[in-house]
Amino acid sequence: MIDDVYDFGLEQIIDTIKRRRAKTVGLQFPDGFKQKAIKVSEEIEERTGSKIIISANSCFGACDIDTPLRKSVDIMFQFGHAEIPNIQAENVIFVETESRIDLLPLLTKAIDVVGDRVGLISTAQFVHKLPYVKQYFADHGIRGVISSGDARIAHPGLVLGCNFSAVPDALEYLYIGTGDFHALGVSLATKKPVWIADPEMDEIRKPDVDKVLRKRCAAIERSLGAQSFGILVSTKIGQCRKDLAFELRCKAVEYGLDAHILFAEMITPEALASFRVDAFVNTACPRIAIDNAAVFPVPVLTPVEFEVVIGARKWDDLVFDEIT
Ligand code: SF4
Repeated sequence: MIDDVYDFGLEQIIDTIKRRRAKTVGLQFPDGFKQKAIKVSEEIEERTGSKIIISANSCFGACDIDTPLRKSVDIMFQFGHAEIPNIQAENVIFVETESRIDLLPLLTKAIDVVGDRVGLISTAQFVHKLPYVKQYFADHGIRGVISSGDARIAHPGLVLGCNFSAVPDALEYLYIGTGDFHALGVSLATKKPVWIADPEMDEIRKPDVDKVLRKRCAAIERSLGAQSFGILVSTKIGQCRKDLAFELRCKAVEYGLDAHILFAEMITPEALASFRVDAFVNTACPRIAIDNAAVFPVPVLTPVEFEVVIGARKWDDLVFDEIT
């Protein structure tokens, strides 16, 4: 077995490779699973005889497909993410790397903090457990609500850091998963409390939303009076919002401001170092502005924050940036 907790789906992968007679196979892992890459590669090679290439590039989500690798292999497997149904990615199979962890100890803690009706949300590793969570809650007099999302969302209850369309209408939420990233996004987008039930830490906690809100207000305030903007577009297949970037540039021009569209695969301070502008507007992964803005020399705004800065939108109409 590759891992005690996460299911790397090797039997199905090997069966698929043999059925499709794939001679070359690409493997893509998010950072959290990259340490398993060599073991997975060795086992697939040994059992199929295929030539394996492991992507060493970033893999932040199903939006982030290593396209050059995909084009040079017969089939590619991306681990750790659920497919984004509205992205056309031929010959890419997503392995959700489901967790086998027993949620019962965590759920016994969760029933002490949630009210009698709670929205249930999760990520690819745990979303298959939501019906079980719902039943457990029902057995304890709590109604768990699970909703389907839009065309970017593969499973009911699944949230991405850029899409909360599967977040049900509820007064509070329970997020099953690790890290604060997704729960923070849901809390910012809904302005409602989100409990994180973290199976790895074996704890229930809340994300620090106020800290993020203070940082976003500071970024907007620092950008008031900016005259020049770099509008960032990522070439990653599931993050590329070129049309939105052109719309934002038109708005800037309308308000007598200077704006230029900057394309990059990875949006990093190094890639942008030579461009002297007062602020960047990020149309790539929305989390760059939320989680990573501190590493850039000038403020990084979301598209809606940019509209507030130039006066095209009121502060009260500020919403979380999502990709549909
Ligand atoms: S755009 Fe960002 S948040 Fe959305 S799936 Fe990709 S990496 Fe995740």
